[in-house]
Amino acid sequence: MKRNVSLDEISDGRLYGENDMVKADCHGCRGCSLCCRGMGNSVILDPYDVYRLQAGLGKTLSCLLEEGAVELNVVDGIILPNLRMCGEEERCYFLDGEGRCGIHPSRPGVCRLFPLGRFYEKGDFKYFLQTGECDSGCRSKVKVAKWIDTPNPGQNHRFVCDWHYLLKDLEERTAGAEDLEESKRLNLALLGTFFLQPYDAGHDFYEQFQARRKSFCDVGAERP
Ligand code: SF4
Ligand code: SF4
Repeated sequence: MKRNVSLDEISDGRLYGENDMVKADCHGCRGCSLCCRGMGNSVILDPYDVYRLQAGLGKTLSCLLEEGAVELNVVDGIILPNLRMCGEEERCYFLDGEGRCGIHPSRPGVCRLFPLGRFYEKGDFKYFLQTGECDSGCRSKVKVAKWIDTPNPGQNHRFVCDWHYLLKDLEERTAGAEDLEESKRLNLALLGTFFLQPYDAGHDFYEQFQARRKSFCDVGAERP
């Protein structure tokens, strides 16, 4: 999800790599669950999140949509899945009665990052610290890679870049599409290829992602 704000307004003005130390560690949140409530449709899932949820919970995206844990929304012209906020308090579907994440080992990338964000530039990205987003008054320094808690950081970095720039390209193409049918075709191809077709949770995600990327390209949905 794009945000039209300057980095200086929302961060400490620094950019971080995976090996840098950043003041993001809120020590298990200590009973706070503020960023698991009222998040609208901003906890957007990427294909690796869907793979991780399938591996951890044994549920495909279709199952999660059916049970109401996930919903589909249009973001910058693209249909993408996001975690659903429920009830008057708008609590994440997976937030338990004690205010803890009920799927902590399988939680999506957006939740792993928080309060970090990503700043994309010239085909790559760095992390930044959102200074106004986490209420914990006692955050300490932690290595970015440790905070994100995701295996194979190098491979994951490449995937995050590939996915971001694939979506960016698609956004430009759907925005420029004169015919609504073409925009619909691209959106359906994206959903079917990367989200609705179940992953093989016993096999490497990144290989599956690259194979799907190739087939997406073959149907003319991604520019080679
Ligand atoms: S706002 Fe900060 S302390 Fe509260 S749940 Fe989110 S990350 Fe944890
Ligand atoms: S998945 Fe877990 S960490 Fe993420 S918003 Fe839901 S309850 Fe919070």
